[in-house]
Amino acid sequence: MTTLQVAPLRAFLADFTRLVQEPYDQAQTLTRGGQLLGALVRNDDWLPEVFAQPHPAHYQQYLLYADPLSRFSVVSFVWGAGQKTPIHDHRVWGLIGMLRGAEISQNYAHQPDGSLQPEGDPVTLRPGDVEKIAPDVLDIHQVSNFYSDQVSVSIHVYGGNIGAVSRAVYAPDGTETTFISGYSSPFLPNIWDLSKENHHG
Ligand code: FE
Repeated sequence: MTTLQVAPLRAFLADFTRLVQEPYDQAQTLTRGGQLLGALVRNDDWLPEVFAQPHPAHYQQYLLYADPLSRFSVVSFVWGAGQKTPIHDHRVWGLIGMLRGAEISQNYAHQPDGSLQPEGDPVTLRPGDVEKIAPDVLDIHQVSNFYSDQVSVSIHVYGGNIGAVSRAVYAPDGTETTFISGYSSPFLPNIWDLSKENHHG
């Protein structure tokens, strides 16, 4: 029987809490936070399986942690085979770290007529890769599972309680629909119980 090693997540959350206490601007937070997230997703041995379960019909967003002061939140995104998001925005900064499988992110930009067109080439994230979202630079994208036949998992960090942020999904003609995503998770990870650490078997 494998003992869950959730300690890397707890250490990441401690480091990230220290980071958001610093007087960094958004660019510095993304740079330093991206390094922390990159180190976290370099190993795929810490995410409890309940937060890696796909849904047959749509992608899942499991809350792993929300800072009590809403300075950041951490979510596991689980892509079933072939699943994708609508075109959407975030309105807070974000970091996407690929843990398992792969995903494709395509940025979109508003055109003079108000419609949305792809901006730049799609980016493919592989395990260990980190992508940054800066709402004042480019905030609109569509993300899809790279694989049509297997599950992919990425770990997202946002500069707010993302499940409660009022933001938008977009039709290709630019029509905007406000949404609040909430979370898929019925449970939260028990990251604070140290009694089961350092026990194997
Ligand atoms: Fe997104």
